[in-house]
Amino acid sequence: MGKYILSLDQGTTSSRAVLFDALGGVAGMGQREFTQIYPRPGFVEHDAVEILQTQLYAMRQAVHEAGITAEDIAAISITNQRETTVAWDSVTGIPVCNAIVWQCRRTAPICEWLKAEGLEDYIHETTGLIIDPYFSGTKMKWILDNVPRARELAEQHRLRFGTIDTWLVYSLTEGKSYVTDVSNASRTMLFDIRKLDWDEKMLDVLGVPRDALPQVVESSGVVGMCADSVFGREIPIAGIAGDQHAALFGQCCFERGMAKNTYGTGCFILMNTGEKPVFSDQGLITTVGWKIGGKVTYALEGSAFNAGSAIKWLRDELHLIQNPQEADLLAETVPDTGGAVFVPAFTGLGAPYWDMYARGALLGVTRGTSKAHLCRAVLESIAYESLDLFEAMEAGSGTKISELRVDGGASRSRFLMQYQSDILHCTVRQPVCLETTALGSAMLAGLAVGVWDSLDELSTIWKLGHEYQPQIEPGAAAPAVKRWRKAVERSMHWDT
Ligand code: ADP
Repeated sequence: MGKYILSLDQGTTSSRAVLFDALGGVAGMGQREFTQIYPRPGFVEHDAVEILQTQLYAMRQAVHEAGITAEDIAAISITNQRETTVAWDSVTGIPVCNAIVWQCRRTAPICEWLKAEGLEDYIHETTGLIIDPYFSGTKMKWILDNVPRARELAEQHRLRFGTIDTWLVYSLTEGKSYVTDVSNASRTMLFDIRKLDWDEKMLDVLGVPRDALPQVVESSGVVGMCADSVFGREIPIAGIAGDQHAALFGQCCFERGMAKNTYGTGCFILMNTGEKPVFSDQGLITTVGWKIGGKVTYALEGSAFNAGSAIKWLRDELHLIQNPQEADLLAETVPDTGGAVFVPAFTGLGAPYWDMYARGALLGVTRGTSKAHLCRAVLESIAYESLDLFEAMEAGSGTKISELRVDGGASRSRFLMQYQSDILHCTVRQPVCLETTALGSAMLAGLAVGVWDSLDELSTIWKLGHEYQPQIEPGAAAPAVKRWRKAVERSMHWDT
């Protein structure tokens, strides 16, 4: 049997595939960006068929690059941008509309209505979530209310909803498997995270028929076979996890109290809280980390919607830089931001503020504010957002975090990582393999098909790359943090 795991990492801006060998080393990679569709301000969509096509391209590219054959692949795993919602016809397998992306704010009125119905506490206690357009449930309601074909199909029991994992498994198995894993299910606002089943009351409130939802499975286990039309041979799909859950697993945060931060499009801190869900009153989400062999691991999560996307904004919209590395170089040329503060609330603010009406802000600008100051302000803002999440997490869990494990594209910024360590006053550790999201889901699949046998064995795969230690005195960043919080306040309740 083959020893490689092909991990599909379906992200917000690109579909990627990473081929791992049995030592957790990267043997091949493929990546293809796809179109971001912004039909109106605050609306974000993807074409689910383009997602599938780019994913297939990336899978083949990874295998080709490694120079292996399908026989060498023990299993396929899937990790994905979460909450993004696809709706399709079970007879044709064709989506009825564009996928509504996690960042999309169109369901703000539905969220207002849920709050007015007094459902906040029920939703938090049952699903672990905060009422926000971020999650899939209100996106499903929007599709049912606004896409006539979806309603028709629902009446004929032909409508299928799914997060991206479900859509990929369904498509790769040619419609044979209609499943989602516990981690992705816990992002829908329809899932009871204790009973690990769809919640009748939430299905009823949002009008989502149960037969339009997938079967919920464990994160590690064979869920179906990728059709032979892809690689000329059937390959088991054996692991599924939402991207942040996969990153927590790939960072080997297997013990209670271990935490990681992923700096991708957004910023996501997750902390393993063990076998019982922990609830925060500081706006953090309680989520299912993974379920393996009947054992559930829960996590606390804090997310900021925009992080690396702000660096991309410097490149693509402002044309201030040609690549992300340039932001780093420029930021290092100035000792501070000259008083400028940037708040990357392009699509509202997540935890701990939860303001869907906040918008980006640039404050404290003077005639002397330069391109370098602006780049530095953008990078610093990502560290401040993470600081807010980190503090809420320590308060919510009652645990002091001694080490933060980091990954994601923007963790390549040495300036950002050092600044992060400085303001958190905590060790920041980055593994050699930054593909922790892809690695985490590969580990889940590898456990299922016998490439790896235990969590202990997996822990030996994690290897330290860089370590950042605080280089400033505790409290030295307090004035800057105070300015940041003042700026956040100014950015809030803007788009009302
Ligand atoms: P996602 O999976 O959300 O698409 P990634 O983990 O691939 O995100 O990270 C992409 C983000 O990382 C981009 O928004 C980009 O701005 C940022 N990024 C990539 N390389 C660097 C770098 N060298 N320095 C700073 N940021 C970077």
